Amino acid sequence: MQPQNYRQPIDGVWTEAASGERLPVVSPADGRVLATIPRSGPQDVEAAVAAARRAAAGWAATPAGERATALLALADALERNLDPLAALESANGGKPVAAARGEVSRSADRLRFFAGAARCARGLPAGEYVRGATSWVRREPLGVVASIVPWNYPLHMAVWKIGPALAAGNTCVLKPSELTPLTALELARLAEGLVPPGVLNVVCGDGVPGAALARHPGVDMVTLTGGVETGRAVARAAAGKRVHLELGGKAPAVVLSDADPAVVAARLRVGAFWNAGQDCTAAARVLVCARRYDEVVSALLEQVGRIRVGDPGDPRTEMGPLISAAHRARVRGFLERATRARILAGGGDGGLGPAYLEPTVVTGVEQGDEIVQREIFGPVITLQRVADEAEALRLANDVPYGLAASVWTRDVDRAMHAARSLNFGTVWINEHGPIASEMPFGGFAASGCGTDLSVYALDEYTRLKHVMLWESQ
Ligand code: NAD
Repeated sequence: MQPQNYRQPIDGVWTEAASGERLPVVSPADGRVLATIPRSGPQDVEAAVAAARRAAAGWAATPAGERATALLALADALERNLDPLAALESANGGKPVAAARGEVSRSADRLRFFAGAARCARGLPAGEYVRGATSWVRREPLGVVASIVPWNYPLHMAVWKIGPALAAGNTCVLKPSELTPLTALELARLAEGLVPPGVLNVVCGDGVPGAALARHPGVDMVTLTGGVETGRAVARAAAGKRVHLELGGKAPAVVLSDADPAVVAARLRVGAFWNAGQDCTAAARVLVCARRYDEVVSALLEQVGRIRVGDPGDPRTEMGPLISAAHRARVRGFLERATRARILAGGGDGGLGPAYLEPTVVTGVEQGDEIVQREIFGPVITLQRVADEAEALRLANDVPYGLAASVWTRDVDRAMHAARSLNFGTVWINEHGPIASEMPFGGFAASGCGTDLSVYALDEYTRLKHVMLWESQ
């Protein structure tokens, strides 16, 4: 199949980059060039921000119900195109086609949630808070939102960002990852005719257009899902704007002494290795109380050994390649530098290709080791034996990140205590991974600031204005 040469939608027109340059988009499973995309620079960002600004007043003045109707229609369009979108996501991201189908469905659900939430914004009632005057609050859109997204869930992350932004009445410039821009471009194609030109623009390319968006004075809010270093760069460039950062993670799974090893292992098989571990919430550190350690390790090894790694297009595949051979080399680097670690499972490519890494289980690590402290973003978990609950919770919290954690116990009091003690934006009890549109998702500490999903996200895409009307007498 010939690679498709995509253009990018700015102000409703599919355009080339001003420079005329293009970037290849590659399938990680076999290295095939799937498509080419414009390599945008500051000039393209200028055009996209100008288009979003021109469209901002009209979209902000569109009643919430009409904006909701547009988002509901976009959700329907995603579902109508589920098969081709899932196939494209699978080919571009190397993810199993069954998983990609789930991501398209969940993307539709997120859009439907924000469509509904847009119609029931929250706030104080109008009233007389000062004698002689009536006050009310206007919840207004911010204006132009720059949404910068990563490669691990390309369509899903794009929807997480544009859903609340558009629902709240903002216009958007979406910057997909240069590695996986194809479904974001298809999303914009499906939005044509549903939202006016300029409401949803896409600029393709690497960090250059991302950085240009972050510093552009015509952008009112920058929202990024990406790495910690990128987050820092965006925060510096965007000083003075509203900034929302969803960054990395290093999630612990805290297994207490009364947990059921079989349940822990079966659920962590998914919670740790879903999307080949390229998930900011992946259970990367398994901390097990001494009494259960041997049982949990052997149950986990048994489960991990059954994960079917292979061609992402095969419906039986559970885990495909990593996003690229370069990323695989980066992940392998963590294993090579962990000189005291023992690899109990995985570590190789299974003879499948240069971007593959088998599910890998590592033990013999210490809390200060790089492999325990830093996000790997691949199918690698570390196992640590801990004396008791107190040590488990202490080590769980002892990393720079604060995105997600799980605790495994059958005792309600211990579960409650752990949920209170863990410094992470999401805490699961006896599960690791599921997310709901209605619930907030965000990180503490180095994992960023701000909230995706839920009505709390919608709040972040708006500003509050106090209007005070005085009686004339
Ligand atoms: P990345 O930070 O390299 O890139 C993310 C996006 O930012 C891409 O679109 C990229 O082109 C752009 N970018 C790069 N440099 C930039 C700059 N200086 N200014 C503005 N934009 C710039 O991340 P990635 O490799 O695409 O994704 C993996 C990372 O994303 C991991 O660290 C992971 O933890 C994180 N992530 C976090 C969440 C979350 O919700 N917390 C979810 C998914 C991924």
